[in-house]
Amino acid sequence: MDVLRSIKKISSLQSIIFTGTISILIVIAGTAGFLLMQKDLLQKVEKKQSCYLELVDFRGRLTEFDISRHSQNAARISGEEHKPSNRQTVGVLRFMYEKLLVQMQDAGLYPVAPMHADRQNWAAVLTGENLELFKLGLENTIDKAKAEAKAAADDLVVINRFFLFFILAVLLTLSITAGWLLHNNYKQTLLPLAQISGQLKLLNRDLPESIHDTAVEIKKELTETEYSSEITQITKSIMGFCDDIEQKNKKLDELHIRDEKTNLYNYRHFKEHLIIDIERARRHGDKVSLAMIDIDHFKNYNDANGHIAGDHALKSIADLIISQCRISDVPARFGGDEFAVLLPDTDSVTVKDVAERFRKVISDAQFPDKQQNLAGRLTVSIGIATFPCDAPDRETLINNADRALYMAKSAGRNAIVTFASMNIPESQAV
Ligand code: GH3
Ligand code: MG
Repeated sequence: MDVLRSIKKISSLQSIIFTGTISILIVIAGTAGFLLMQKDLLQKVEKKQSCYLELVDFRGRLTEFDISRHSQNAARISGEEHKPSNRQTVGVLRFMYEKLLVQMQDAGLYPVAPMHADRQNWAAVLTGENLELFKLGLENTIDKAKAEAKAAADDLVVINRFFLFFILAVLLTLSITAGWLLHNNYKQTLLPLAQISGQLKLLNRDLPESIHDTAVEIKKELTETEYSSEITQITKSIMGFCDDIEQKNKKLDELHIRDEKTNLYNYRHFKEHLIIDIERARRHGDKVSLAMIDIDHFKNYNDANGHIAGDHALKSIADLIISQCRISDVPARFGGDEFAVLLPDTDSVTVKDVAERFRKVISDAQFPDKQQNLAGRLTVSIGIATFPCDAPDRETLINNADRALYMAKSAGRNAIVTFASMNIPESQAV
């Protein structure tokens, strides 16, 4: 089972190359073996057939010789005129016999007893009873040669049939394997590819949720279907790609709303929140407070310690502000050394307490100070305004918190001023 599963897991391309190579090697080896065997058998058939024909020819010559020998004997007995001698024919027959013996040995045939001759006394072989015995042996040898030539020809037919069968078997195996591979290819590659491309068509790269949903769908299909290794690889890459985009989108979102230097929210995000929070407070009759914070004499700190140290101080003050905020508050960098903290659902009394915490935690902190002009201390001035009591809309809220901040600066800095406490003449009030 495990073997079958691991075979199935082999990529379709690999299995096609593997099966193709093995099949070609089998066909080449089989054909080479067949050709060698066929050549060998063909030679054997030819030699044995040629021996058989030579033996028949020899028998004809021998018969002729026998007839001629009988007629000479008859003529001698009846005293007829003298017939020419058979001596020449005896020599020819002996030559033919010698040649036959070599040919038969080459073809793997051996004369059947008593077809053997006393080569020293060949003339004696061809007389009387010896000749009859020789003819009997020759007959048997001809029969044997005929049978062996036929057997060799039959072997050739068998080997030819076997080769045909072998080729058919290879073709059948190849067809079945190709069908199986195509089926697997369809099931494990083409089908999932169509499904994945269907999912990707639904992907909207502008919508982070769509990227997430696509990754989830592809992951679900990956666990439910048995994919080929290539498709598994592709789906894993796509999923990794979607995860990457999701992570990068999150980072981009953060970059979009955060101030790089302080990691506080930026002015854009602050403004979006201000609009939403004021509208919500208006609908529900809630209060929204705004604290504008500005570092006192920050220019002096920069001049004494350098801009880099100034940046570090900005970040430290931002961290201190964050440490005093609730999760729903929106601490932002308003610009330069000025911060704004939006406090939804916070009235003018509570915001004063929070602002006092901001002021205290910053004035208590120690900052690196090379020239010790400021003794490592930085303070902030804070102006506060609350919607709707101090301002009926968001622009006025910002303006009034700013005016309160200006007042805190005028009052000597390191101070908190609420807009409500400013006693602004009726004509100047918004
Ligand atoms: P005060 O607010 O008390 O009236 O005095 P100040 O010296 O803080 O005010 P001013 O507006 O004169 O100067 C603000 C300084 O804040 C100017 C600049 O040196 C510093 N500043 C503004 N943005 C940055 C910043 O991103 N990095 C650093 N290091 N300094 C900054
Ligand atoms: Mg300042």
